[in-house]
Amino acid sequence: MTTSLQTTFVIIKPNGVKGGIIGEIISRFEKSRLSVAAISLRNITRAETEGFYAEHKDRGFFGELVDFMTSGPVVLLALRGEKAVEAVRHMNGATNPANALPGTIRFDYAPNTGENVVHSSDSAESAARELAYWFKAEELTEYTPASHVLG
Ligand code: UDP
Ligand code: MG
Repeated sequence: MTTSLQTTFVIIKPNGVKGGIIGEIISRFEKSRLSVAAISLRNITRAETEGFYAEHKDRGFFGELVDFMTSGPVVLLALRGEKAVEAVRHMNGATNPANALPGTIRFDYAPNTGENVVHSSDSAESAARELAYWFKAEELTEYTPASHVLG
């Protein structure tokens, strides 16, 4: 059997943390057979955020994006599973929640594009870069998940 095990990078943005839906969001991923490989709840700095979102630095929303991402703690996550990059992008939903499909995290929780609750890597290459940007190699754990979700 061919497998396409991937690790992707996710951020639960400050409104997800303040809204008390850290567990709800991680639960959705776990129920979809994505395992948490690394996790950190912390405040991120403006410099870190500007570097992370450098591709958007010339966009009009950049300042507001940095303000928002540094407005409270975030959860940094490495998630591992089959086709994890694509799976998480689907589960998060469209960037603008008005375009997000029912059942996605952004459809259910995001009030607008700027405060859209979650980030996830958009390709395997982005995932590798973003994981290395936020995590030390030794923070990325390796374990074999149980063959089915418990409970
Ligand atoms: N963003 C925004 N206004 C826009 C486009 C993007 O505020 O018109 C913010 C939004 O929070 C988004 C982030 O910038 O999640 C990164 O944009 P991107 O296009 O990479 O969307 P994503 O990959 O997060 O879906
Ligand atoms: Mg993006």
